[in-house]
Amino acid sequence: MWGLVIFCVFHLLYLSGKVTYPFINFILLIISPIGYLYPKRVTYILMFLLCPALFLMGRFVYGAGIRDSISPVLIFTILVLGFVKYRAAILSFDKEADSELSANSASRETVRSELEKLDRFEKGITKKEIEIINLYEITKKMSESLKFSEIFGVFSSFLKDNFTFKSSELIIVKWNQSQPSLERVYRVAKEEGVPADEKSLDYDKLIKRFMEETREIYVDRNRGKEVFEDLAIKDEKIETFIGIPLMSEKKMVAILTVENLPKTEVEKFAILATQFALEIKRVLLYETVENLAITDGLTGLYVRRYFMERFSEELNRSRRYGFNFAFLMIDIDDFKQCNDRYGHLVGDVVLRDIAHVMKENVREIDLASRYGGEEFALVLPETGRDGGRLAAERIRKKIEEAVFKAYDEKLKVTVSAGLAIYPEDSREIHDLIEKADRALYKAKNSGKNVVCEWKK
Ligand code: GH3
Ligand code: MG
Ligand code: MG
Repeated sequence: MWGLVIFCVFHLLYLSGKVTYPFINFILLIISPIGYLYPKRVTYILMFLLCPALFLMGRFVYGAGIRDSISPVLIFTILVLGFVKYRAAILSFDKEADSELSANSASRETVRSELEKLDRFEKGITKKEIEIINLYEITKKMSESLKFSEIFGVFSSFLKDNFTFKSSELIIVKWNQSQPSLERVYRVAKEEGVPADEKSLDYDKLIKRFMEETREIYVDRNRGKEVFEDLAIKDEKIETFIGIPLMSEKKMVAILTVENLPKTEVEKFAILATQFALEIKRVLLYETVENLAITDGLTGLYVRRYFMERFSEELNRSRRYGFNFAFLMIDIDDFKQCNDRYGHLVGDVVLRDIAHVMKENVREIDLASRYGGEEFALVLPETGRDGGRLAAERIRKKIEEAVFKAYDEKLKVTVSAGLAIYPEDSREIHDLIEKADRALYKAKNSGKNVVCEWKK
């Protein structure tokens, strides 16, 4: 298009007599775009050769004057250089556009990757947020409870919802003169149908292991073979085992174990375990305080006030389900004499040891209390006359046979007992006590060291 414009301009110049040889000019016009096509050395060489040739041609072939001979040379030079410049301008414009375009796409790429990072970060935060909320919820729920069984219930349902595992146990440790032993075990299995009471490892060995090493252990069947063997983990389906000792004042109070927990979930589980340990400590503290309030310091039996509460609960339960139970009043024979002869300190030891014999000879569910100074009351749930008589007789005999050692003294003591049965003898608490007491009075009157039943 530019060529056409320039050609028209030349033609007009020619018509007005300014340019004398249009054909030459036309040829120049045609070749001048070489400045655009080859803006390199070849163009300059061509110009260097053509310009004097043109001048000489105009001067001597066409017989033109100096001014008319120079004009096509000048026009040609201007045109070629114009084309060179034009090409350079276009190229630089293209380059700029290109670089702008690539800069744009690079920044777009950066923005996209930043956005992706942000998205991932947000997802991570959301996940962590959910975990923290869950942890807060479970902590809140656990803190509402004061019983091991209840907090383990909350813990195990959280475990089921949030972790991949096979089974988990909470092993409560009891301490007897700086010797730990197994007290009880709570167990949860992820899959339905796995018996919750199925013993999966040797708890005593586990306690012993953690006595020596108080750090958590995480092992798998291949690399931790000796641990699997030591703890007697026989179940072939157990691939990994994690055991965490829960400490309170540098003393191990419980052990938390999980089977088949993936390594990726260990960290999350450890956080949960830390929280759980705090709750265990709290419940333990509560149990200690409660025990102090409800048990007698010397004998370890229930104090009278708490015993009466439990007695009344047992009576209601028996009434509701139609059970019977036996009530026993036991009194040490001639204890005054014992005190007078050996002193109160010896008497106290005897009292403590008699209580111990009683505890050893009743079931876990039986309630035993120090009812008065040297008087004991026992409730034996779901026990009739024969069972009550047998239990009372067993206790009486064990005490009769025992030799009590107190300080440097060795002494023998006997007890008498009165028995009354719910609901045969009475359906009312105070009446039952009175009847057992009267039976005890009868035992005292019939020579002591005997068990008497209440009879009309
Ligand atoms: P009985 O065979 O009739 O029961 O004669 P007893 O001497 O045992 O008479 P009783 O049951 O009335 O005895 C109560 C005595 O028990 C009085 C007191 O010296 C003694 N006693 C009560 N509580 C304690 C105690 O905490 N420690 C000691 N060492 N003695 C106690
Ligand atoms: Mg007495
Ligand atoms: Mg008495």
